[in-house]
Amino acid sequence: MKRSKRADIHQIETALQAPLCLVRRRGLKRLGLLINRRGQVQLTVPWQHSDEFALQFAIENLDWLRQQLEKFRTRPSHRLPILKVDGQVPFLGQEFRLRWIPFQGRARAEFAERELQIFCSEPDAELWKKLIRRQYEAQARWLITERVAHWAGRMQETYGRVSFRAQRTRWGSCTLSGNLSFNWKLMFAPPEVIDYVVIHELAHRAHLDHSAKFWSRVAEFDPNYDEHRKYLQKHQECVRFLDGFELHASEEPGTAQLKSPWPESMSEEVDELC
Ligand SMILES: [Zn+2]
Repeated sequence: MKRSKRADIHQIETALQAPLCLVRRRGLKRLGLLINRRGQVQLTVPWQHSDEFALQFAIENLDWLRQQLEKFRTRPSHRLPILKVDGQVPFLGQEFRLRWIPFQGRARAEFAERELQIFCSEPDAELWKKLIRRQYEAQARWLITERVAHWAGRMQETYGRVSFRAQRTRWGSCTLSGNLSFNWKLMFAPPEVIDYVVIHELAHRAHLDHSAKFWSRVAEFDPNYDEHRKYLQKHQECVRFLDGFELHASEEPGTAQLKSPWPESMSEEVDELC
């Protein structure tokens, strides 16, 4: 009896303990297998082949895939932790020490002199994430809203609502009607870089594209915009700050670690078998 596509996918995912994704893209000539940067098994399928045929190819190469996954999971850039108690968190371009203050009252996070202090009764990852996020968002709301008002005045631009969220792929955006939205994770960056993003979004009020005219408008108010843009590119991984962290209690009493399952580098690692 012919096996179903679903059974094949299940067999591969179970054997490898990793998710599988099928990709069909115009112009592909050969079947391909790789481990993508999210640690998924990616099977690329040209038009002339059926999914069933492609899945059979993956099943035949399970051993190779197992080796590649092992390499992926142990490669240096995949080694963890970014956040840990008594470790550092990035804020306004500086490192702040993450400190746990055992506390029975209302749980909260507060920035103090070069520290982000977490007041709560236990090191609970979900609670910590919520508290840290809330504190960053509050700081973003306070600082960025003020910078928008400041730069809109200087640039003589109007704007609508200002909102804050955690987009996966952008630091800010501007709609046709002038509503601005900013990623609260931008608070990791130095003030002049935050100003650049504000100026960038306000410059979209005059030019919706990224044309030469747009960039000269940005340069008028931020002559060092190129440097600030590069800073964001270099620290692109900060867009993942706090995503998917887990809490690992260590042996020492009173300390714990927050580990991220995300690779530090966002660059695509391609190891292809054709
Ligand atoms: Zn833009």
